[in-house]
Amino acid sequence: MYEFAVTPAVTQIRRRGVEIAEVSAGSVGAELELERGDRIMRVNGRAVRDYLDFRFQTAGETDVVVDVRKTSGEDWELNIERDEAEDFGLSFEQIVPRQCANECLFCFCKGNPETARPSLFVRDEDVRLSFLYGNYTTLTSITEDEMRRVIDQRLTPQYVSVHATDLEVRAYLLGIDKERADISGKMRRMLDAGIEIHAQVVLCPEINDGEILRRTVDDLAALYPRVSSVAIVPLGLTRYLNDSRLTAVTPEFCRRTIREVTEIQRELRARLGTTFAFLGDEIYLRAGCAVPGRKHYGDYPQIEDGIGMVRSFTNQFDALVRRIDRRTGAVARPSGRAQSNQSGTIMTGTLFAPVLRKHVARITERFGFRLEVVAVENDYFGGDVSVAGLLTGGDFLSAREQVRGQFAVLPRVALKSDEPVMLDGMRFEELREQFDVPVFAMDFSSFAAALESGFANECRDSKPPGSLALAT
Ligand code: SF4
Repeated sequence: MYEFAVTPAVTQIRRRGVEIAEVSAGSVGAELELERGDRIMRVNGRAVRDYLDFRFQTAGETDVVVDVRKTSGEDWELNIERDEAEDFGLSFEQIVPRQCANECLFCFCKGNPETARPSLFVRDEDVRLSFLYGNYTTLTSITEDEMRRVIDQRLTPQYVSVHATDLEVRAYLLGIDKERADISGKMRRMLDAGIEIHAQVVLCPEINDGEILRRTVDDLAALYPRVSSVAIVPLGLTRYLNDSRLTAVTPEFCRRTIREVTEIQRELRARLGTTFAFLGDEIYLRAGCAVPGRKHYGDYPQIEDGIGMVRSFTNQFDALVRRIDRRTGAVARPSGRAQSNQSGTIMTGTLFAPVLRKHVARITERFGFRLEVVAVENDYFGGDVSVAGLLTGGDFLSAREQVRGQFAVLPRVALKSDEPVMLDGMRFEELREQFDVPVFAMDFSSFAAALESGFANECRDSKPPGSLALAT
């Protein structure tokens, strides 16, 4: 779930039409004197519920009649002629997500501390967000209107949490009755209409693993290529999500799952020519196994669900080191390695830290630049939460004594996508003030850029900028 995609559910009530958030200078919208705050009510006589409707109803149209409610309360009817490809230059308010009516055993909302940001409690279940951002839905409460919309507006692909094709098990996991749990007809209808589906299984030991998992994968594989992939991700327990019906995922469970699923993947590759069912990176890391190679992931169909991130990171990192090697000749002239007094610390989750440490050691080895990796414990959520994206300001502060060198880097993914704030509500500026060295939030591309420049700016910058200027 992308948090920014669900924020409107707690900050806005849904009103008719869609509100304009911005109008680009010199655009068709600006010429028409549209302004921020105006609402588009109808296009060619058809109601507009959100920006997807606007996009769909104006696509390919050269003559468009747009009904607008101005911020002043006036109603305007605009008759617009434009070139087919001409953009309106309008951006719109975010979509207010629909919420689910399930009571999943493993729902992450139940795993939040009470003080967590309200948007973390939004149980979004929205086919529009599924299409736009890859958010998973269970399809249990999709309405006829939404179904028709997916098909008419070709909101493809859709991301569907299947969990188990055994109805009894699916109903148990979702906390609903079997009739509602049965989505076979809904999936068939989408697939028959040419909507592609990516499926997900949240793997819960002793509930939907073993034979149930095999059957789920087999049933979904029978729908390939219309169902194009399955992500199998492990249950995550926090100290707040401790339902006695759930069994924790252990390294031994991960090893067994890898053995079983590797066998299934082999059969699928022989039969379908693709791995089709992918295990989450976390399963390999917790098992203490290497993640599979590049070919295993194909075109990374489930990367939005974190599947193949470690492989992708490793490949990008290798390419980066080769690029720097070529530029500096570090490999050809080992004695000529850059010697540097510069050093810093990268803070990340305990799961990824060992992988990162291995890669970072190559940097020190080759370029003489010292980077330490600190594995930050997640005390906020507790349990077995170990990924970087769920670390909070308080967690980083607890680990700050371990920081060495002239600066610290923390993962960009630990901040909200549209605002420099962490899951416990701490603002990034607030965190930076409490460190003795400059702190930077980086994703891979900003890290790569910093590495290529020898971290010159980061080391020089004893007075860090107050805003997040780093690439996202
Ligand atoms: S579908 Fe289940 S896991 Fe998702 S938000 Fe609803 S209750 Fe939570």
